[in-house]
Amino acid sequence: MFKATANIVLPTSIIGSLPRPSWYTRNLDYKTFLQAMVDSVYREQYTDAVSVYLKEQELAGLDICTDGDAHFDTEVGGQSWTSYPLFRMEGFDKHNPKPAIMKTGGVAFPMGHILHDYLEARVMPRLVGPIGRGDLQYAAMWKTAQRLTKKPVKFGTITPELLAAAFDDKYYKDPVERVYALSNAINEELTELANAGCPVIQMEEPQIHMIPARGPVFGKLDMKAMVQVFNNTVRGLRARTEVWCHTCWGNPSQQRMFKDIQNYAPSLDHLNQVEADVLTFESCSSNRQELDVIGKQITEKKIAIGVIDHHSLQVEKPEDIADHIREALKYIPAERLIICSDCGMGREGMSRRHAHYKMIALVQGTNIVRKELGLPEAECLAADSRYSLVTTV
Ligand SMILES: [Zn+2]
Repeated sequence: MFKATANIVLPTSIIGSLPRPSWYTRNLDYKTFLQAMVDSVYREQYTDAVSVYLKEQELAGLDICTDGDAHFDTEVGGQSWTSYPLFRMEGFDKHNPKPAIMKTGGVAFPMGHILHDYLEARVMPRLVGPIGRGDLQYAAMWKTAQRLTKKPVKFGTITPELLAAAFDDKYYKDPVERVYALSNAINEELTELANAGCPVIQMEEPQIHMIPARGPVFGKLDMKAMVQVFNNTVRGLRARTEVWCHTCWGNPSQQRMFKDIQNYAPSLDHLNQVEADVLTFESCSSNRQELDVIGKQITEKKIAIGVIDHHSLQVEKPEDIADHIREALKYIPAERLIICSDCGMGREGMSRRHAHYKMIALVQGTNIVRKELGLPEAECLAADSRYSLVTTV
């Protein structure tokens, strides 16, 4: 159901992660979130970091905020996105993590490539028993953020198929069984999160759109099968809250994963069938190339387009963002259009200031179009010239 985006035309948000403040030096270090929050230093740093993330989003004027993925540790290339669940769920030998064994012919980033470090950082616990949700504690993290702001806070999670590919499995006979065990466990966790009141849950990177380029997941799960996995993971959620399905073309170490710009077109029929209220599409880094086909084929769900590039330090100009939105409006009605970033900005490499000004530009660009359409503009205190310290004559 529409909750966070109900009653707002052209709402703005980001995908999730934000760069860590330099003073946020503590890590969860394999503890559970609630265990770590017992430590007064971790608790202070974590809560301050989330407060800062929310404040920056409020200053920019975003409508839907995130907690910046503040629970992720400082792992190489943002690997914590994958390792956080694996070290907290049941079934894993958490005290004896090993480098995950890569299949020959799998994702190929040779020695000397920056993403080879990312592969080396896949030191993950092996699966030795049945998977259970364990101590993901998503609801506790969401509540910790939501009690710091009146704006809706979106909470995101990695999808089961990406988790299933990241560790060695000594328990299940078939990877499909493993995927469904993860999917069921995540569904339990997300049901609790939705029941706690979370107004938007975001599923990050179902592999449906990657299949035309890379082939079926585990060599056997095609697009149709992956839609079933997605719908199993979110079953029951749309009756309780708003569900977003986030797609992009990769983010580790803020690198492009593919040499050429990829196409969503071959997967749109299937993306249309996921049980989500909103589909997000990378559009800025992909040169806005498929707005027409997306608008033509996705006719019921809301569409979030990325107008901010997470790979680049160049801050987008509000005028260019406004152009981007105007072009999207040729194919997608304003009532179903959401303005967003392409992906998270916090993986590695981008400074807080870059992310800050990208969020400001996102809202300023949206405000240009809102004004043209006679819609209310968002207050962007961070761009209010009354508070500039520069003297002009
Ligand atoms: Zn992404």
